[in-house]
Parts: sequence; C-alpha cells; structure tokens
Amino acid sequence: MAERLAVVSGGGTGIGKAIARELVDAGHRVVVIGRRSAVLAAAAEELGAGRVIPVTADLTDPAQVEAAAARIGQVGPVDVLVNNAGAVITRPADDSLGALADSWRHDLDTNLMTTVLLTTALLGQLRRPGGRLVMISSAAAQRGGAGPHSAGSYAAAKAAVHGWALGLARQLGPEGITVNVLAPGYIADTEIFGEQWTPEFHAGKVADTLVGRAGTPEDVAAAVGYLASPAAGYLTGQIIGLNGGAVLGR
Ligand code: NDP
Repeated sequence: MAERLAVVSGGGTGIGKAIARELVDAGHRVVVIGRRSAVLAAAAEELGAGRVIPVTADLTDPAQVEAAAARIGQVGPVDVLVNNAGAVITRPADDSLGALADSWRHDLDTNLMTTVLLTTALLGQLRRPGGRLVMISSAAAQRGGAGPHSAGSYAAAKAAVHGWALGLARQLGPEGITVNVLAPGYIADTEIFGEQWTPEFHAGKVADTLVGRAGTPEDVAAAVGYLASPAAGYLTGQIIGLNGGAVLGR
C-alpha cells in the first residue's frame, strides 16, 4: 500500500502523541501540529525523524491555520485528519459576566474552533474517496463537565463538536470520507490537567469506571487507529465513547 499521510493536531504530547505513534506504526507519514515548536521537534525525533513532520501553529488563529494547510499541501493529499488539540480552561477569574464571557470564548476557541478551522482549511486536500476524519471530544460532552476545573464551557465546546461533526458526516459521506467522534473519559499521563491534578482527583475518576482503572493515551490511539484505517469505511457519523464504562450506552 502507498504511504498514507495523516495530520494530528496536538500531536506533540499526551493522547495526540500516542495517536501519531499508532499511525506511524500503521505506515503513515504524520504531520503533528501544536503551538510549541520544541515540543513538536522532540516528538518528531522520538517517533521517527523523516516520518513525522512538525508544523507549528496556533489553531485558534485563521491565518496560522491557512499557513499550516499550505505547508501540508506541499507534503501531499491527507488520508487521515485527527482533530485532537484541546485544553481544559481555568475557571473565570471572578464572578463578573465579562470574566465569564472571556473564559467561554477562550474555551470555544480552543476546543471547537481549532477543530472547525483546521478541518475547513484541509477539506479540499482530503483524499476522495477514502479520507478519514476523527474528532477527539470528551465524555464531558455526554454527561456535563462543570466542576472545579471549568464553568461548563469545556463540556459545551466539546458537545458543539458533536453536532457539527454529524453534519459534516452527512456532507462528506457521498464523497467517500468518513467522519467520527471519539469521546474519551479520564485519560491519565497527559499534560491536560496540569496543577489541577491530584491523587484524589485521579482516584475519583478511576472510581467512576466499571473496569477500575484510568484510560491511557494508547487506549485512545488504538481506537483512532481503527477509525483511520481503510477497514473502517462503513463506520461514519458516530459518537463513540471510550471511558471504561463511566458513561453507558451513548
Ligand atoms: P495535552 O495537554 O497533553 O494535549 C493537548 C494538545 O493540544 C497539546 O499538544 C497542545 O500543544 C495542543 N493544543 C492546545 N491548544 C492548541 C492550539 N490553540 N493550537 C494548536 N495546538 C493546541 O492533553 P491530552 O492529550 O489529554 O488532550 C488531548 C485531547 O483529548 C484534548 O482535546 C482533550 O480535551 C481530550 N480529552 C482528554 C481527556 C483526558 O482525560 N486527558 C479526556 C477527554 C478528552 P501546545 O500546547 O504546544 O499548543
């Protein structure tokens, strides 16, 4: 099979890096995108220099997304796009409506617009037929996410990805492109929780599951590996939970 090209946003760390590794192992060249050049360069070196192409961009900025898409266009048509970049946003600084609005806009930019902008910029470059689009959302979109870490905007931003992706599946299905959303539950050993992570937080998340453990980046990567594969051509327009049983039947 000819070498396939994949693009993984947020591919320099955590879940995204595990996805990039999975796709390299499955024979793809992989473009990894993020804001920190040094982090991307280190990931590219670790995963296989020459097979992994770092592209630095803030995906909330349309001009930087356009530049990234132009750079990817020089590499080749895109077989797989994994929209994985995202972050949990700190709660509003104070109780004012202004602070709430700033926090929500930041969250929507980071978790929704990164996905919308990159996908739209690459739409014309996706392989037809055979392209694979995977969005990484969150179990928070299915069960709510307000708590010590956010004011609910993270859950809302991820849920917005769901509705948008389902419409995209309708639009792109006739062109032979599948679109699916993977909604992970708690995945340990990534940068996302930062200083908000505590052993108590971890234990609570593990207790939520039926399998009694945290998820790993490799759990997510294995599922993406299937969704991205030529074998998954009949699977589209789905929201797929990956959460150790913390959310049932959705
Ligand atoms: P990480 O913080 O390790 O990864 C997030 C990645 O996104 C980083 O590589 C970061 O790179 C990149 N990123 C963030 N903002 C931008 C931006 N504006 N432009 C470009 N890249 C950006 O956390 P995870 O691996 O845990 O998270 C990956 C995805 O999985 C996220 O979408 C997250 O919401 C989701 N998720 C995670 C869960 C978990 O429990 N860990 C559970 C459910 C979903 P840089 O900072 O260099 O830009």
